[in-house]
Amino acid sequence: MSLYKQSELFAFLNSIGRKPNKRLSQNFLIDGNILNKIVDAASLSPGDLVIEIGPGPGALTEALIAKEIDVIAIEKDRLFAEKLGRLDKDNRLSIIQEDVLEVDFLPLLKNRKAKIISNLPYHLTSPIMGKILPLYGKIETIVVMLQKEVAVRMSSPPGSKNYGSFSIFTQFYSDTKYLFSVSPNCFFPRPKVTSGVIRCTPKKTTSSFDKEAFFTFIKSVFSKRRKMLLTILKEEIDKEALTTELQKLGYSEKCRPEEIAIHDFVHIYKSFY
Ligand code: SAM
Repeated sequence: MSLYKQSELFAFLNSIGRKPNKRLSQNFLIDGNILNKIVDAASLSPGDLVIEIGPGPGALTEALIAKEIDVIAIEKDRLFAEKLGRLDKDNRLSIIQEDVLEVDFLPLLKNRKAKIISNLPYHLTSPIMGKILPLYGKIETIVVMLQKEVAVRMSSPPGSKNYGSFSIFTQFYSDTKYLFSVSPNCFFPRPKVTSGVIRCTPKKTTSSFDKEAFFTFIKSVFSKRRKMLLTILKEEIDKEALTTELQKLGYSEKCRPEEIAIHDFVHIYKSFY
């Protein structure tokens, strides 16, 4: 089968009597070139373990299995999950029919490291990335397709207008690279938005502080991103102390949140909270 071909996808959907379900973000990839680029971006070697989130009819799953790797496919849609078994020729595919947000990944890995590859259900991008990015030591690489605008935000560096709290969350936990954009024409049904593919390589983080509280602080700072940091924090931090600290870090006292590098935000947070 070549499920990335529109004719084969249509034949499959007809054979099981299904139409794509909007509520599950079911926009299926129908472009073989993009599919290969996603698989290549994960630099797979035989024997690797890949977790695929949301395999749907299985176009990406099929390409992964062809790489002689082990695949764990997590799909909420019961019918698609049931039908996925047809792709498993060498007993290398495990199918979990569940909401990915409910799945505990660690027991699935059985002490192996895994790569995560997914054409994400776009409406769940934040909770899924929130769940998988902190898995340093367990997950080697994450290659995901998502809404382009979000992919750009996640991978934007300080100083860019797209740098914000989601960039900081993503880049705190991973080295993040925007790889390429994908036109709506590469999907059935055609989505309203352009897509993008990013690769995140989880990295070790400093463990000695409350990260949840840190990200709450970051969100609150960026909710006022047009103001100067000194103004935003004037109720919470002594102005002179913060000015001195900003100068030590090489920032002007007029700097705004979008100019500040992640490690400097961590430093400021640790120093004053
Ligand atoms: N991998 C397929 C492809 O590229 O053509 C389908 C990708 S489609 C954008 C997203 C997939 O995620 C759908 O198959 C959908 O049923 C599945 N999905 C949606 N919500 C899910 C959830 N909470 N847990 C697991 N899978 C989910």
